[in-house]
Amino acid sequence: MKILKFGGTSVGSVSSILNVKKIIESSSKPIIVVVSALSGITDKLIDTSKMSATGNPAYENEYREIVQRHVDLIKEIIPAGNAQTGVQQQIGELLNELKDIFQGINLIKDLSPKTSDIIVSYGERLSSLIMTHLIEGAEYFDARTFIKTERKYSKHILDSELTNQLIKRTFETLPEVAIVSGFISSDKNSGDVTNLGRGGSDYTASIIAAALDAESLEIWTDVDGFMTADPRVINSAYTINELSYVEAMELCNFGAKVIYPPTIYPVCHKNIPILIKNTFNPSAQGTMIIKEKHNSENKAIKGISSINDTSLITVQGLGMVGVIGVNYRIFKALAKNGISVFLVSQASSENSTSIGVRNDDADLACQVLNGEFAKEIEMGEVNTIIAEKELATVAIVGENMKHTPGIAGKLFGTLGRNGINVIACAQGASETNISFVVDAKWLRKSLNVIHDSFFLSEYQVLNLFICGTGTVGGSLIEQIRTQRQKLMEENGLKLNVVGIIDMFRALFCREGIDLNNYREELQEKGIVNSTQTMHDEVTGMNIFNSVFVDCTASPDVALLYKDFLQHNISVVAANKIAASSEYENYRELKQIARKRGVKYLFETNVGAGLPIINTINDLINSGDKILKIEAVLSGTLNYIFNKISADIPFSQAIKMAQEERYSEPDPRIDLSGKDVIRKLVILAREAGFRLEQEDVISNLFVPEEYFKGNLDEFWVRISKLDSEFETRRGKLAGENKRLRFVAKLEHGKASVGLQEVDSKHPAYDLEGSNNIILLTTERYNEYPMSIKGYGAGAGVTAAGVFADIMSIANV
Ligand code: ADP
Ligand code: ASP
Ligand code: MG
Repeated sequence: MKILKFGGTSVGSVSSILNVKKIIESSSKPIIVVVSALSGITDKLIDTSKMSATGNPAYENEYREIVQRHVDLIKEIIPAGNAQTGVQQQIGELLNELKDIFQGINLIKDLSPKTSDIIVSYGERLSSLIMTHLIEGAEYFDARTFIKTERKYSKHILDSELTNQLIKRTFETLPEVAIVSGFISSDKNSGDVTNLGRGGSDYTASIIAAALDAESLEIWTDVDGFMTADPRVINSAYTINELSYVEAMELCNFGAKVIYPPTIYPVCHKNIPILIKNTFNPSAQGTMIIKEKHNSENKAIKGISSINDTSLITVQGLGMVGVIGVNYRIFKALAKNGISVFLVSQASSENSTSIGVRNDDADLACQVLNGEFAKEIEMGEVNTIIAEKELATVAIVGENMKHTPGIAGKLFGTLGRNGINVIACAQGASETNISFVVDAKWLRKSLNVIHDSFFLSEYQVLNLFICGTGTVGGSLIEQIRTQRQKLMEENGLKLNVVGIIDMFRALFCREGIDLNNYREELQEKGIVNSTQTMHDEVTGMNIFNSVFVDCTASPDVALLYKDFLQHNISVVAANKIAASSEYENYRELKQIARKRGVKYLFETNVGAGLPIINTINDLINSGDKILKIEAVLSGTLNYIFNKISADIPFSQAIKMAQEERYSEPDPRIDLSGKDVIRKLVILAREAGFRLEQEDVISNLFVPEEYFKGNLDEFWVRISKLDSEFETRRGKLAGENKRLRFVAKLEHGKASVGLQEVDSKHPAYDLEGSNNIILLTTERYNEYPMSIKGYGAGAGVTAAGVFADIMSIANV
């Protein structure tokens, strides 16, 4: 014989209740069916009673909605006629009683726990009555007649012995289908209505299953089974097909709502399997909870669960060290007051003991403990005891953790890398559970990073915020769009773009933005952007494994890096401003990144996609020393000097460079050498020199006054230099020489300036907008290492940014 329990979600709507009917009809008989109240009704009953107790007239509306839900449901599922009228009448009587109770409360403005228990019992009484009429040949059993509780520590505790006897007697002869109201019970002495606690219908079913030695207990709900994590928080959570009682107990104890925790014990004791099934998808395999698992799965942990409702109380003081009996007193005092402790952590120095309790119990717990240790507190041996609230507890569970080294390391390492601070932790010697306490606002992120690192190890996720959708940003998004599938399949890397920000608008989406039409989405759904909103959103989303990608040239955006890194968000910048700003700022950013275990990467700051910074780093890390750098670092200037001819004057060449999108948005940054100075400063710093932009000797080739005023004035003025440049170019061409804008670093001294190079110089043949970097080092001495290629352009720069992103994922 089987016991089937249908939760509120299974009896909440017409279609679900008809599914339930089918499931019952196709089960082998006899069966006992336990039902919960219609979904949401228990909450509504509680809310309505509170409203009427405070004299809020809106309670009448709430009550009417309760009536409507039931009346409407009956109309839809019981055929019109005598049968339907009969049910409506019986239900009507119950609902009228309920109305009288609410009115009574409203009059006297008092709601005792006893009345509250009476009120919530109507939920299950109504639903089970409806079910009995829906299923042909079904017989109704009121759980209050055989589930008996007694009062202990102001709570209703099951009297198992009496209940078992009564159940056996009640079900001595079994009908084909017995329908039992879940959740509700009565006091063994007074007969008052009581209940088994929120979610208690599962427990009702388990108690009956154990008392009658049922063959199995089936819990029918709205998910395919016990999942690796709460599917409402982790959308990649998946169903676990088999769990041991211990694992299931550990998981639901820590908030996995699928089963009410006390449910496990009675059936576990009798070795009766529990099967979790989905009413909405009955063909899914579900989860089997049994004593010995058949499948030896190799995953170290089975599931993650959490409870938001956590307060941490720490009893601390030097006077506790080595004193026998302190913990005894803590737990005795709490137990005497009915306070349940779900987490304990004690330092081996015995200087402090931390305990986790529910928020509702926190104040009483402090009061009790301050009373217990009053003398010690007065003497200064123990500190005054206070509760830290707004916390959450997370547990990772699995019997395979036993004797598997490295699980705790992996867990805490993952949390640390994501900037999550662990306030307390506990692992029992049974090694089936590691629990830890974090600030409640870090809960979602904690669950995500753990789920990602323990369950999704087949692929890794990087969550990207892309700032700037211009030439580089736009190219990057396109490259990610086309490359994504391949990275997932071949490299196990999932790139999830969770934020796109342009000059005016910003779009954020935890689940990932569709890259096919992000520009439209940005227009339609984007919020108005400002640096402050961007900062608040990016840090506020608090998303794991995240990377901020700066494809702008904005100084304001560069100012945000520090805070992002401090929030454990890696930064990849095509923007050169931060790395070339004051040395102290550059150093601080790098240091924060190192300390936080995240990355600050800016390979494309110099030579677009050319591997220059990484090469310098590799040389230095392997013990080499950079002696000299000689480089053409401006794609724009090189392009201009390659373009000018008898037909193309200097000013036109500048315009062309801008049109080709090689130049900075403001070409004066290139012409003034500023862009090259920034790059040289960055290279010098990466090569180990402490250099500021002011330290670079700059030999300008466009006089200072050309840069004054606005951009329009510049365009008018610059053509005045055309003839002078043409003369110089013509003369040099005769001598077989060319103009190159060269950056140099030698003996720690840096300079930039125009240089006339002859055909033997490596930069002589440098085509188009190409760059060349010559590195003279202790090892590459006689013949310097040269790196040469496209030094500007959206495609190659975006590819360089992409490569930086990939290196964060270690792909
Ligand atoms: P019922 O009304 O059937 O008793 P509950 O709402 O009590 O259903 O429990 C089922 C819900 O538990 C699911 O809808 C799901 O959102 C939630 N849940 C939380 N943690 C888990 C988990 N680890 N696996 C499956 N469901 C979970
Ligand atoms: N209806 C009760 C509740 O909502 C019991 C249950 O659903 O199991 O808590
Ligand atoms: Mg439930």
